[in-house]
This record gives sequence, C-alpha cells and structure tokens, in this order.
Amino acid sequence: MIFNIQRYSTHDGEGIRTLIFFKGCTLHCQWCSNPEGIPFGPTLLYDERLCKDFGECLSVAAPALHRSDEGHGIRIDRDSLARPEVLRDVCPAKALTVAGEEISVEELLKEIEKDRPFYRDHGGVTLSGGEPLAQSEYLAPLLQELKTRKISVDVETSLYVEWERIAAVKEWVSTFLVDMKHTDAGKFRTYTGGDVRLVMENLKKLVEGGSRVIIRVPVIPGFNHSQREMISIIDHVHALGIREIHFLPYHTLGMEKYRMMGLEYLYGQYRSLGDEEVHSYVQYAQSKGLRTKTGG
Ligand code: SF4
Repeated sequence: MIFNIQRYSTHDGEGIRTLIFFKGCTLHCQWCSNPEGIPFGPTLLYDERLCKDFGECLSVAAPALHRSDEGHGIRIDRDSLARPEVLRDVCPAKALTVAGEEISVEELLKEIEKDRPFYRDHGGVTLSGGEPLAQSEYLAPLLQELKTRKISVDVETSLYVEWERIAAVKEWVSTFLVDMKHTDAGKFRTYTGGDVRLVMENLKKLVEGGSRVIIRVPVIPGFNHSQREMISIIDHVHALGIREIHFLPYHTLGMEKYRMMGLEYLYGQYRSLGDEEVHSYVQYAQSKGLRTKTGG
C-alpha cells in the first residue's frame, strides 16, 4: 500500500527521481513529518478549513461522522470508523482525503515508466515511507523488475525491521539511505518506540555485506541536537567505514497533518532549524573524512 508518488524530485537520492511513499512504519517518531504514513492501513485526514458543509460524507460513514456542534464542519469518531477508505473521493471540496491505496506491482511500474525519460544517467526511483522495507514481499518483485529495466532504486529506511526483510531485497538496491537517529538505546526507545540495537545490527550487516550506504541524520531539537549526541552518531558512522553522511535539520512542515488526523503534535514548541544550526556537526563529520550534505 502506498500513500504518495512524488515526481521530478531532486531530493532523496541523485539526479531526478520518482519518490514512492509506502504506508506503514515500524517506528513512531514524535517529530515525524509524514504521520499519515505511520499506520499500515488507510488513514483519514480532515481539513476543516476546506469543509463547505455539503454533508455528502455523513451518510457514507454514519455513525462515525456527525455535524459539528459548533455550526461548521464535522466531528469524526475515529474509533468507530472501521474503513476510512469508504470516504475516498466522497468530499467534493477535498476536505476529507484518504491516505493509502493498494497498487499492484504492474500498475506501479507503469507509473514509474512515465518518468523514465527524466532519469538520464543518475536519476531513478527512491522508495520511502513509512518504512518501505516492512513491505519486502511487495518490494522484491518490484525491485527485481526495475533492475531488469535498468532503473536504479534507492531505499530510504530506518532499518527497524527483521534482517530477513533487508536480505530479501538488498541485491537490487543501489543505495540505502539509512536514518540514524541516535546511539542511545533509552532515548531512541522513548522518542521512536523502537530498539536501537536492531538498527545497529542491521546497519553493520549491511555495510559488511558491501551494500552502498549513506547515513541521514534528522537533527531534532530536544532529542539529538547537541554536540555530544551528534559526535557519538558521527563517530559510530565513521567506525563502520561509511563514507557519507547527510544532516536533515528539523522542520515543522508536517505539523498540520497531525491536526487533520485528530492527533496532538508533541513537537509544537520547537521551531524549524536553519542549515547554519547544523554547521558544527558538518564540520566535525568532515574532519573525520566523511562527505557531507545538509538537507535531503
Ligand atoms: S521512521 Fe520515519 S516514517 Fe517512521 S515514524 Fe520515524 S520519521 Fe516517521
């Protein structure tokens, strides 16, 4: 299941790329800018500002949807909305949208082929999410076919999946863009819900197996935005023999989506970081001989 295809991107890999966002993540980072990608099933988003009170949705998803008591818009009882996908394309004003759609490998290949003329020498496809490797059964035939068609594929991943899932697809991946968020197990668990040891073990196996890896560090205030924590991450990357690291300054672009999903955004008190605020980390990484980049 995917929730977005972004075309002609110059981020998340080299050249011009097609970014494909897979539904479902094995972590739930408190700052996640794609919260609609975290649940494995379809997710309903409601933008009250677009609602024109047409009311088409009320009969389709009764009794989960009600008119708001405040005279405008609707109220959603998400616990009793078993199948959000029934609301896909129901709202003429697009106040209600559903993230997440099943797509066959053949259909996705057709979508990718439309962009092939733009890839030239360096471009290609980047799989993102969510956690794309959580859907390795789907990925294997897709990646195999893209390899046959000589279309290069990068995978953006937090590596928080069983090693078998990575092993099942790694031979067809050009570059793994690996999110490394922290080296401290306690902090990693508190802020992402996961066990950093699995990430570290998978990363080591991937590097030892000869896969091309670029590390991407989301720089998050209150989590890892300190000299001490960044040095620990950079030293770990350097010790593994990885040659390239990217720093992704925290931004608040995903904030609105939390409201649209009826969730609280726990990072509301932090502002976006500028590139200059990660400069000392860049300098330290360069001093260790790593190639660096700031931003995706
Ligand atoms: S790993 Fe990425 S997609 Fe998953 S919750 Fe964290 S930031 Fe979001």
